[in-house]
Amino acid sequence: MLSCIRGQDKIFQRTLGEQKPCAEPLHWSRFVIREETEGGTLLFNALNRILAFSDRPEAALADPAAIPREDAEKLRAWHFLVPESRDEMRFADQMNSVLRLFHSGEEKKRRRSFTIYTTTACNARCPYCFEAGCRTVTMTRETAERAVDFMIAAAHGEELRMSWFGGEPLVNAPVIDYICGRLREQGLAYRSTIITNGYLWTPEMIRRAAEDWLLKNAQITLDGTEQIYNEIKNYKSAVGSPYRRVLDNIGGLLDAGIRVSVRMNLSVENAEDLLKLVSELQERFGGREGFRIYTHLLFDYLLSSENRPLAEYTAPLEAYRKLSLRIEQLGYGKSLRTFDRWVNHCMADSDGSYVITPDGNLTLCEHFFDEHIVGDLTNGVTDREELLAWKERKGKTQLCESCPLYPSCIRLIKCPDEPSNCSELQREINLLDLRCAMRSTWKNREKLNETSQDNEQDEEEEHR
Ligand code: SF4
Ligand code: SF4
Repeated sequence: MLSCIRGQDKIFQRTLGEQKPCAEPLHWSRFVIREETEGGTLLFNALNRILAFSDRPEAALADPAAIPREDAEKLRAWHFLVPESRDEMRFADQMNSVLRLFHSGEEKKRRRSFTIYTTTACNARCPYCFEAGCRTVTMTRETAERAVDFMIAAAHGEELRMSWFGGEPLVNAPVIDYICGRLREQGLAYRSTIITNGYLWTPEMIRRAAEDWLLKNAQITLDGTEQIYNEIKNYKSAVGSPYRRVLDNIGGLLDAGIRVSVRMNLSVENAEDLLKLVSELQERFGGREGFRIYTHLLFDYLLSSENRPLAEYTAPLEAYRKLSLRIEQLGYGKSLRTFDRWVNHCMADSDGSYVITPDGNLTLCEHFFDEHIVGDLTNGVTDREELLAWKERKGKTQLCESCPLYPSCIRLIKCPDEPSNCSELQREINLLDLRCAMRSTWKNREKLNETSQDNEQDEEEEHR
């Protein structure tokens, strides 16, 4: 028996729809990923993002002619089985062009999501920080005032979404208070998220975050257990153990109803320690509403892996596999929404976001506050060429020809976090993440419709 766990998005129903019966022999689409699980096999189609479950083992599905007729018809209708003559890469390209056109017709070009750099200053000194050596600039009250006026005008009455970013955004918490106060005075709907190292919170600040900033999610990076964490962060003027203080603050945020996502930057060197950290966190916060953990392989591996064989990256890949699996087993698996990108890649090409820098400029990518400026708070967008350059995509490579992720893969030429060409390592990581998301969605299938769109969006934003 075959059942649909996650159906087509509305937009796919209207553009791609079901595949009609045809006389030609059918074979498995190259975009289908099969994953054997307890009691059967999960099947994900990267073209239309349908997740299905068959109660047959994977080996029993290999030959389409041996699949019971009723199941085979569903697989045909859902584009899992496709005509042998179909040029699938071309079909996916055409499909994505149609989706983009469809979307640009619907898109009202309202900007309602804003990443706000309150300051580039930070109270920590992490060795891997991409802002190390950047000039220090902190948003003034006057700039914050212009930011409020600009956001209100750009959002055209839609709910504003703000992400507090830095440096360490809490170094300039008064500017957050000020912006939220102004929005409240004007009766505007808003919500916010934050990327923070988690050290500077106080109980009073957590109260303001919940009640005034309408903070829904805090992303906090932990790089190791107590001693290692304290050494890496190397906080300025730390009192006591910063690790313990951050953990206490995580507890305070959860108590206040603010979700906390702990990010772990993984390298071969800290892999074993992060496994210990996961256990410590689970012991303290496991089962708490709103708590989750996820990991990222340090970008250095991905950036250096271009044009290099996977065999050179066995150790980091294995470390990633082990840690991801542990995190998944504890119930913090990934979401299939990460693979739902069909119109844009991230905030930079979204038509819905701006980054507001501390001195009042606008950029599109959160990695830049001093370069790639597209405009400013007073004049709006002044450099359309720069804005359009962020929409340019990388073409497919030889590796893509054999990659099942191709239809859901968008890569931006200007993204600083990706090598010029996808590497075997990057592709393996993406496939591992997808398989994890398939299993987690299957395990949590009862909750699939319970998660609110808002929570999913907040979490999706924090993945970047
Ligand atoms: S860029 Fe990489 S992940 Fe994307 S389709 Fe190509 S090989 Fe696959
Ligand atoms: S670093 Fe890449 S993924 Fe992140 S916002 Fe910039 S362009 Fe997007």
